[in-house]
Amino acid sequence: MDEFSAISQLTRQADFQSLCRTQLEAVRDMTGDADVALLEAFDASDGQAGPAQTPTYAVRQIVDGQEVATPDWLPAALGSHTATDAPAVIRLPDGGAVICLGRLAGLDRFLVLQRPVETRVLRGVRRISTIFVHLLTLMDHFERDPLTDLLNRQSFDYRFEQLLERSRRNPHRVRVDSSPWLAVADIDHFKRINDTFGHLQGDEILLQFASLLRESFRTEDLLFRYGGEEFVIILNNTDSAGAAHALERFRARVAAHYFPEVEHVTVSLGWVGFRPQALTSQLIQRADRALYQAKSLGRNRIVRYHESLDESRAPWAAAAPPEDAGQA
Ligand code: GH3
Ligand code: MG
Ligand code: MG
Repeated sequence: MDEFSAISQLTRQADFQSLCRTQLEAVRDMTGDADVALLEAFDASDGQAGPAQTPTYAVRQIVDGQEVATPDWLPAALGSHTATDAPAVIRLPDGGAVICLGRLAGLDRFLVLQRPVETRVLRGVRRISTIFVHLLTLMDHFERDPLTDLLNRQSFDYRFEQLLERSRRNPHRVRVDSSPWLAVADIDHFKRINDTFGHLQGDEILLQFASLLRESFRTEDLLFRYGGEEFVIILNNTDSAGAAHALERFRARVAAHYFPEVEHVTVSLGWVGFRPQALTSQLIQRADRALYQAKSLGRNRIVRYHESLDESRAPWAAAAPPEDAGQA
């Protein structure tokens, strides 16, 4: 494949996965190296200690999400981002190369050529990688909510389906043998905040709430603005005790945070474990039921979904919802 064909193929892709696959195919074709890999490194340490904590990196294949051993070149590659347009290249001792694709949303990405590669060929790979990075940046932009910069509702279905697919394919995780967890978070009495302090102040709360989310969860967890004041969190690589701990820590963090003017805001959360066979809508519905339970029990709490919640009277079937309940 020549460079023009590679670029033409890359620019035709409409989603992240197919863009990454196309980049791999193009580079394999240009180098004759079947072992080309696209990797991403991320800080897998706990969100608790905050930004001052020394990061512990985990590395995974971008296309199938499989974690791999931390490569020897990682520290050098993490420190070698250039300010120029073209990605930095690190030559490996055996003649292979690592192309540093930069950092986006806390993920550092790399293209690894395992076999010896000629400098001339490497230049071409570097040029198409520049286009690849620009396309990744563009896709990332369209996946985000403009107010909070969290992932948007449109990207949720796609990301969620991808995760379900991964957990069906690799039921055994590398660090923790557990499927992901899904939580729905809804700010308590947000309408009252808007009515009392105005919509602009309401938006400011949403912004600060999003920052608290980012500070509280790991890079590998996915954070979405699902609706107005509703957020979805997908927790990865943790068991049920770890998920409960992280969600409860977040709830407490919001409750303890001082929001300007409004002062105190609380959040209720409902959460549920992934079942690889489940449908997206089923899991969301279960997390929603648990959330409704958290609201009915007085808000500012987390509730895990359990089957008995299905038996209790469904809120959407109720003739008149309880006073100040509801999460439309
Ligand atoms: P509950 O504790 O039961 O969740 O009560 P609530 O008032 O938060 O619930 P409800 O879902 O009835 O109200 C959500 C409100 O969120 C309604 C709407 O005015 C407000 N809202 C939704 N999107 C935005 C937004 O982008 N900016 C602002 N400022 N307000 C928003
Ligand atoms: Mg609400
Ligand atoms: Mg709501």
